[in-house]
Amino acid sequence: MALLDIENLAVSYGPVAALRGVTLAVEEGRITTILGANGAGKSTLLRAALGAVAPRAGTIRFAGADVTRLPVHKRVAAGLSLVPEGRRILITMTIEENLLLGAHLRPDQGAVRAEMAAIYDRFPNLASRRHMAAACLSGGEQQMLAIGRAMLARPRLLMLDEPSLGLSPLFVERLFGLIAELNRGGLSMLLVEQNTGLALGVAHHAVVLELGRVVMQGDPAVLARDPRLQEAYLGES
Ligand code: ATP
Repeated sequence: MALLDIENLAVSYGPVAALRGVTLAVEEGRITTILGANGAGKSTLLRAALGAVAPRAGTIRFAGADVTRLPVHKRVAAGLSLVPEGRRILITMTIEENLLLGAHLRPDQGAVRAEMAAIYDRFPNLASRRHMAAACLSGGEQQMLAIGRAMLARPRLLMLDEPSLGLSPLFVERLFGLIAELNRGGLSMLLVEQNTGLALGVAHHAVVLELGRVVMQGDPAVLARDPRLQEAYLGES
């Protein structure tokens, strides 16, 4: 059984159909990447999985339960977590306060402290400035903070929307290293990424959306060699 099972999902914004009958499965322990041009519906798919937009039709099952009608906080408690595009760090709050937001639904605050210590070990740039406003962080550091915050919700599925957007090449490299490392630790991920080459490199399964429909899916290594995909997203011919 897949960890996340989406069937015939349709989402509209007023008259705009953003997803039209999307069916896909995200397997436990794997990285699944969603590719597609601007406006293909990638962000909408992640937001619908989280419960931030209501579907017009279709079902969403997570860890064996139908979550289609559950509010966001119940899905987060069930193990779904999204790092949205643009990161949504609260820049006037401290780094520590931002991290703690990720854990606010958890009763086990002792464990939260231990996991925060592990996050600070991993990101010394965050640790040394933990009591400073998050505005002092660079874009790359803010992305690490956003991922740390999402991890503190103890997700079973971490969804990342365009995490490399606006990052320097060094941070993009660190980010993809982190994605691979978290996955080696067993974390399942659903990754929307404009850097198609890197996304296909790290993923176990790839899904291509076009105008709200799944037009291709399969082994990333096979898709990477597909001439249609190369032409559209890989900047090669
Ligand atoms: P991008 O990479 O540009 O974010 P995307 O593949 O994530 O693209 P979505 O953001 O999911 O695509 O958008 C899918 C379609 O829904 C587009 O036509 C977009 O204009 C439309 N759309 C998205 N959000 C809204 C909204 N809040 N209100 C109205 N239309 C929207």
